[in-house]
Amino acid sequence: MSAGAPDGAATTGVGRVAFVGAGPGDPGLLTVRALELIALADVILYDRLIPASALAGARADAELRYVGKQGGGPFVPQEETETLMRQRAGAGALVVRLKGGDPFVFGRGGEEALALAAAGIAFEVVPGVTAGIAAAAYAGIPVTHRGLASAVALITAHEDPDKAESALDWGALAAFPGTLVFYMGVRTLPALSARLIEAGRAGSQPAAVVSHGTLPEQRTVLGTLATIAQDAAAAGVQAPAITVIGDVAALHGALGWRRSGPLAGVTVAVTRARAQASSLVARLQALGARVIEAPAIRIVASADELPPTAGYDLLCLTSTNGVEILFERLAARGEDARALAGMRVAAIGPGTARALRDRGVVADVVPERFVAEGLVEALAGLEFSRVLLARAAGARDVLPDALRERGAHVDVVDLYRTVVEPLEPALLPAIHAADYLTFTSSSTVRFFLSSARPGPDTRIVSIGPVTSETLREHGLEASVEASSHDIDGVIEAIVADHARGGTAGSAAP
Ligand code: SAH
Repeated sequence: MSAGAPDGAATTGVGRVAFVGAGPGDPGLLTVRALELIALADVILYDRLIPASALAGARADAELRYVGKQGGGPFVPQEETETLMRQRAGAGALVVRLKGGDPFVFGRGGEEALALAAAGIAFEVVPGVTAGIAAAAYAGIPVTHRGLASAVALITAHEDPDKAESALDWGALAAFPGTLVFYMGVRTLPALSARLIEAGRAGSQPAAVVSHGTLPEQRTVLGTLATIAQDAAAAGVQAPAITVIGDVAALHGALGWRRSGPLAGVTVAVTRARAQASSLVARLQALGARVIEAPAIRIVASADELPPTAGYDLLCLTSTNGVEILFERLAARGEDARALAGMRVAAIGPGTARALRDRGVVADVVPERFVAEGLVEALAGLEFSRVLLARAAGARDVLPDALRERGAHVDVVDLYRTVVEPLEPALLPAIHAADYLTFTSSSTVRFFLSSARPGPDTRIVSIGPVTSETLREHGLEASVEASSHDIDGVIEAIVADHARGGTAGSAAP
């Protein structure tokens, strides 16, 4: 480490750069330190192969910049990246240089660090879980194993292995007494295996290709050194992939532990507000889906005053956001759950009830149908005269109208508004190609459709009848409507639809 950044202290204002490994793709393989630094960073310069959700914890005012080099995306020259790091850190920023896997394993982290050292800029290095070891592990392949391999080599080469000037010593690699792990494009496999066999490595040795390691769409192809290029081509394996050559590769048969979930190979676009989307996203991912976060709305607290709660005998809450903001408002004036002690509390559905329970309040009423009409029915047997309805601005008037008709005095307080969140143009092609597009409220429909349309083969998922009606008003029909109008219901509906063959695309491999 160079020019004295204090160990462990990550304060902004002291310009420096952190080279951070983001792991091989599964967001669960980001280190605690990586997450800490992402949350603190003033500037994040990131590559292509980082977990999709890696930037979710970044500060809203952080500068996020793609500086990747491979693939179809824009090409950012290495010097430009290094200049950016020097400039931003030189101006006092904490710069996170976020790279896939480990920053010092084929990640050019060393080169970039040398440039900083030469410029006298402080830096730190946060190792990451490297793809060669992680993808193998997720395929049930231990890269070392007693009796099978007591050494492992991590290998890459930029040149075509067919070229005479190829930098690799194929003789030495063929003779290497242990596992060979190649970080290379799948296209180089035929030449690579031919070279190794030519140089004396046994063609009968087990070999495995693991593509999209640790991601929901991970695939493993097992063969021998002689057959693996053909096997991988026949299976249509695509980058990114690693190739493991050695006896350990065969352990995939006994140790391959990863079962593909019911949504493997399925892409789901989620239009929910970013702040709310995490549980839906995580659960879809756990089922094997690839999730595109395409928030169409943002939640903004409104300026409406919350009246003193004393004097009301019923409080109605119609969303988890409402619960959150209500408790923020109470806290802001020095109150807590006890402010609700004198009244009954009605929640529109189990999500809202759960949010209340998390804050120490058990809802007295939760309807069977999680819509305003359901809540009206569920309140039929209850006595009340003064109602406080805390909700989103612009919500329907079904509930207050019905309660007033029953003779109650109803005060409506708009706790928050949903505002449009512009869709990132870069996301549009992926959203268009998604298998499913989920709408969890009428406002997600309205705001999404203000700047995008669903793709022709995309199945539209609606959380319930009100959202479906809003879709209809916009000339769209929900392909799938959740029968339970909450996140569980949305997930169940997608799984059931996919199992029925709703998506033209892939059944689970
Ligand atoms: N620094 C990274 C490697 C960068 S080189 C690390 O430590 O993992 C990029 C190569 O890594 C790809 O061409 C591919 O061979 C490999 N790779 C990256 N992510 C991968 C993944 N999820 N599954 C399989 N291979 C992967």
